[in-house]
Amino acid sequence: MPEGSHGNLIAGEWVKADRMIDNINPSDTSDVIGSYPSGSAADAQAAIAAARAAFPAWAAASPQTRFDILDAAGTEVLARREELGRLLSREEGKTLPEGIGEATRAGQILKFFAGEALRLNGEVVTSTRPGVHIEITREPMGVIGMITPWNFPIAIPAWKIAPALAYGNCIVIKPAELVPGSASALVDILQRAGLPKGVLNLVCGKGSVVGEVIVNSPDIDAVTFTGSVGTGRAIAAKCVARGAKVQLEMGGKNPLVVLDDADLAVAVNCAVNGAFFSTGQRCTASSRFIVTEGIHDRFVAAMIEKMQSLKVDDALAAGTDIGPVVDAAQFKVDLDYIEVGRKEGATLAFGGEVLNRPKKGFYLQPALFTGTAPTMRIAREEIFGPVASVQKVKDYDAALAAANDTEFGLSSGICTTSLKHARHFQRAAQAGMVMVNLPTAGVDYHVPFGGRKGSSYGPREQGAYAREFYTMVKTAYVQG
Ligand code: NAD
Repeated sequence: MPEGSHGNLIAGEWVKADRMIDNINPSDTSDVIGSYPSGSAADAQAAIAAARAAFPAWAAASPQTRFDILDAAGTEVLARREELGRLLSREEGKTLPEGIGEATRAGQILKFFAGEALRLNGEVVTSTRPGVHIEITREPMGVIGMITPWNFPIAIPAWKIAPALAYGNCIVIKPAELVPGSASALVDILQRAGLPKGVLNLVCGKGSVVGEVIVNSPDIDAVTFTGSVGTGRAIAAKCVARGAKVQLEMGGKNPLVVLDDADLAVAVNCAVNGAFFSTGQRCTASSRFIVTEGIHDRFVAAMIEKMQSLKVDDALAAGTDIGPVVDAAQFKVDLDYIEVGRKEGATLAFGGEVLNRPKKGFYLQPALFTGTAPTMRIAREEIFGPVASVQKVKDYDAALAAANDTEFGLSSGICTTSLKHARHFQRAAQAGMVMVNLPTAGVDYHVPFGGRKGSSYGPREQGAYAREFYTMVKTAYVQG
């Protein structure tokens, strides 16, 4: 295969596809990172058949074999974190430190699940019937279809692939079209770490082609999806219709509550990090600041001062705080929402300008709206860019009600020095993850991740809880 030209991994071989697409750097649209497959339905079907054929042997493999492969792959990812982080930042646009951080996280996830392969245990239960022995054990699900978004190009594939392998499943993964490079590098590392052929298959390409085949194939036992709500719900309906297990991680409209008694510096740091780092393109990003009256004006002034100091530039340049938006389509979505916010009557207190840089890319100054009403679209819909809004509220009770007034429920944060309010919020926030004096985004890799309401569906991802999706339970009754 020519340099810069990549393939799909099917049955242990890197194979070229008939159609290829260029992987473009959003910091510099003249920079083509490489040429990657736009796979066909036949490619997806071949990958599924390979995974099916590999499953009986991999399901029976020793946990030590699974540990060794995941651990070795984790070691290589960590050793190459700078190079992998650079590739990630070049194709997705998050800053180089963020890219290296994400690559590091992928390595840590592989190592965590290497250990989980050894820790999978069952239960022995006393029967109600004398002489009967009950054992509850876990078995792999089978072949897992994985469909991933563009905003965490290596971490999300890692946190789906690693538990699937640890618990004895085979895989067909389709990464997002915008970021095939990082997933391909990860899959290459795992394959060379010793996976038997066909256990892990990668098919790059469109959701409407490769994704559809994965979702609808009777040979795919379970589908794990991360992406937008609309796509996720359509996938779930198809999976449920054919009785396949499904797990969805979707959007957010995550609130950060700031109470009068908050440490202002802590609140501003949480708000800026949560809303604007990674260009606001995190499902856990804060997009609603819900601020009580007594601190509102000081909070807004401090936010604007801080935002003025943020450097928006090439993701790979030293000193960049915020990289570009991922592509032209998302750039247009962000700009459209800024216009919607203005028209709805919110005040654009800072930012929202298109920025020109020496290299042509999708540079957007982070935007902050004030005077936002809870009914406005900018307060209700996921934007998925560096655009956040402030809602002024009277007191803690109003803040809590506003925080929960959303169809989403991924991450919910509060900045306060009141133990009473912090603990109450921890219990009353309708979200899968709650943050106290921390940004809504930024989570550990060894604990469950996921949301409530419209944000998630099915069992949690990550940590030991991942076994709920990647295994099925058997209850055995034995007499004698
Ligand atoms: P998207 O829904 O457009 O695409 C996600 C994936 O689905 C891509 O690989 C895409 O090719 C595929 N796809 C599209 N149509 C399909 C179809 N008909 N059948 C099968 N697959 C199909 O999402 P995106 O724009 O890549 O990602 C942004 C979204 O992801 C945001 O909404 C964000 O909140 C969400 N997200 C959620 C989490 C989480 O854990 N909750 C994490 C990251 C991103």
